[in-house]
Amino acid sequence: MINIALIGSTGSIGTQVLNVVDRYPNKFKIVSMAAGSSAALFEEQVNKYKPEIACLCDSEKALLIKNLPKETSFYYGNNSALHAVTEKADIVFVAVSGFAGLDVVKAAIELKKNVALANKETLVAGGEIIMALAKKNGVKIIPVDSEHSAIWQCLDFDAKKEFKKLIITASGGAFRNLTKEQLKFVTAEDALKHPNWLMGKKITIDCATMMNKGFEVIEAMWLFDTPYNKIDVLIHPQSIVHSMVEFDDGGVLAQMGVPSMEIPIQLALTYPNRLDTKLEPLNLVGKSLEFKEVDKDFYPCFALTEQAIKLGANYPCALSGADEMAVELFLNGKISYLDIAKGISYALEKTEKLGVTFESLHYTDKEARRLVLEYFNRR
Ligand code: NDP
Ligand code: MG
Repeated sequence: MINIALIGSTGSIGTQVLNVVDRYPNKFKIVSMAAGSSAALFEEQVNKYKPEIACLCDSEKALLIKNLPKETSFYYGNNSALHAVTEKADIVFVAVSGFAGLDVVKAAIELKKNVALANKETLVAGGEIIMALAKKNGVKIIPVDSEHSAIWQCLDFDAKKEFKKLIITASGGAFRNLTKEQLKFVTAEDALKHPNWLMGKKITIDCATMMNKGFEVIEAMWLFDTPYNKIDVLIHPQSIVHSMVEFDDGGVLAQMGVPSMEIPIQLALTYPNRLDTKLEPLNLVGKSLEFKEVDKDFYPCFALTEQAIKLGANYPCALSGADEMAVELFLNGKISYLDIAKGISYALEKTEKLGVTFESLHYTDKEARRLVLEYFNRR
């Protein structure tokens, strides 16, 4: 039996982790779970999985929770998710969204627990210190993001294996067929209609802007210990090839499958074994697979990630914090789609270069959000 601490249980990834547990109840047990503010769903989940520890971040919403199993200890408040990172777990599944993932991953590594990592912001903001801490503590960071899982599969589950190049695929997001002119008028509702994947709101907007792909490049740099110039990104509208690895002899391995996160999520928990996911099989008959280069003019957020990578230090963290703020403003109808890149660009420009420590990352993240607000308040 593998004991799972699940952080972000009510989200898109979190609920799919629970699907894996439902499929294989004799293999997996949820020992602790944490969520943000979806009190009703969380209460239902806690009563179903009866974890020893349950944590809800939103203190006000926590008051709405009335019935919990008697064996469950309940914590609530801002950093309560850290209580779910428990000695009882064999693996900590980090499915929380945003910068909140960083402290959870740090706590898991310090407890010497392997981490199944869906939360990419952790490596974008703090890849340097997180990977160093994981190495020091002998902890595995298991990729869950579909592209990184694909690469890891092509590398025989060995992130240290030699390769010549990583080729990360991108769907191109909700607006890939629009013109630049049309982008002026798109709304959050339009951006939330991802053509191939059903995901949380923040990442769906990040897919439309391709900030998500820039984040994934940074994530890959840390997971596979590789420089930026060994990573290519190709737009592949069908989302069937989840990523590829080119080797020294010119051979290229690709991992394919239907676009469902259930495969990488389950594999993170079962590898090197592969169990049935009950998904519809991939049918390639009559399908064409296309690949094209990224137009950085059409996706300025992607270009900003290149800038942050080149600047290094705490700049990727500023990029991530600024993006979280700008996307929130866009989702709340406060700024337009094209404003997202402008706000982030301003925040990057104004960010002060700092050495990377957990303290400097917290400062940088907060400051980047403030800078985005400053930019829009000044206009
Ligand atoms: P969602 O927004 O659907 O879910 C986020 C989860 O985190 C929710 O359970 C939310 O709770 C919880 N949460 C938010 N803040 C806190 C906090 N401070 N403490 C504890 N829990 C918190 O996001 P996704 O599932 O889409 O994405 C999760 C992560 O995985 C992101 O980093 C994303 O980039 C990455 N990812 C997602 C993919 C996908 O297919 N969805 C694919 C690849 C990567 P509540 O809803 O109750 O507020
Ligand atoms: Mg991905």
